[in-house]
Amino acid sequence: MPQDTAALPPIGLFDVRAQQALIRPEIDRRLAAVLDSGRFVQGPEVEELERALATFAGTAHCVGVSSGTDALQIAMMAEGIGRGDAVFLPAFTYTATAEVPLVLGATPVFVDVDPVTFNLDVEDLRRRLALVKAEGKLRPRAVVGVDLFGLPADWPAIEAICAEEGMFALDDAAQAFGAALGGKRLGNWAGAAALSFYPTKTLGCYGDGGALLTNDADKADLYRSLRTHGEGKTRYEVMRTGMNGRLDTIQAAILLCKLPLMEDELAARARVAAGYDAALSGKVQTPARPEGAESAYGLYSILLADEAQRGRVQEACKARGVPTAVYYPLPLHHQPAYREAHAGAIAGAPPLPVSEALCKRILALPMHPYLDDAQVARVKEAVLAGL
Ligand SMILES: *Cc1c(COP(=O)(O)O)cnc(C)c1O
Repeated sequence: MPQDTAALPPIGLFDVRAQQALIRPEIDRRLAAVLDSGRFVQGPEVEELERALATFAGTAHCVGVSSGTDALQIAMMAEGIGRGDAVFLPAFTYTATAEVPLVLGATPVFVDVDPVTFNLDVEDLRRRLALVKAEGKLRPRAVVGVDLFGLPADWPAIEAICAEEGMFALDDAAQAFGAALGGKRLGNWAGAAALSFYPTKTLGCYGDGGALLTNDADKADLYRSLRTHGEGKTRYEVMRTGMNGRLDTIQAAILLCKLPLMEDELAARARVAAGYDAALSGKVQTPARPEGAESAYGLYSILLADEAQRGRVQEACKARGVPTAVYYPLPLHHQPAYREAHAGAIAGAPPLPVSEALCKRILALPMHPYLDDAQVARVKEAVLAGL
């Protein structure tokens, strides 16, 4: 029988409170400074944050923007992506990855994912690229690799394909800020990396925010222009069609308070993951640990044998006060909004069996840096009880 959980401290899937308690005085001080300055848009905190994020990631440039979605959009606008262009991206990801090419008039081409890493399957990418080229209807323009749940995608392979085909490699690192591959943090792979500061991401603000990391100075200038209506050297010179995509000063101030905790928090996430791995590996499929990759553990998702077993684990967790969630219940090519685009991209496109199966079997467990050993133990027991 599940123990009475009412007396135990609640477990959150994410945590935005424990961290705040650690830095609340600093947040109050920083917010008061912004309120006093009155510079709510493009205040000095934005540039200070951009420098700090670039230093943290080891990239030359960082451009703060209004969200992860807008970061993707600005990066694609900078490449001139639009009508007639094919943008390859995984079918198993958050909706924003596919939404952006459609907003720009381009066509998302859904690619299946690897059953172990859950990231873009490079062989399937090659297969679909060949089909698009053979049909000749769409121009292959970009590949968006997603570092799902915090684990870096296979960037050396994606970059090689993009280089061969003259496509832009864009890293949707919204779930993975802090992750590294081959000793280099994300932001140093692909042409640019899009970050999200949505509150539950590895680095989250208290609203919406995002950034682009790149080592290309010209692209960084273009991103700055695009986030402010395509402005030129002066504010009233419009060089190109842009958007209102700025990061606001208050969110930058909050992120400046949180960034100093980031290294410790990444280590704490890795400790929680190692604890789960030790108890669960061999019993369920635990997150992959490819050679040379360091996950940021934005999420910790296990793979159950089938939908029925997932249902039993969900129930067992619920009964024990352990929250779980399904990212994602539906592959993007089955979403009502994207079905038509999928059907129109490649005539008789091959199926996406891995993405479809993962949606039925995946389950995210609580993952944040402030889970203590007792809470990790409760999560493990609840999962094991449901198997
Ligand atoms: C969160 C997320 C986004 C979008 O970020 P927002 O800041 O919410 O716009 C894009 N892609 C992925 C994979 C995400 O998880």
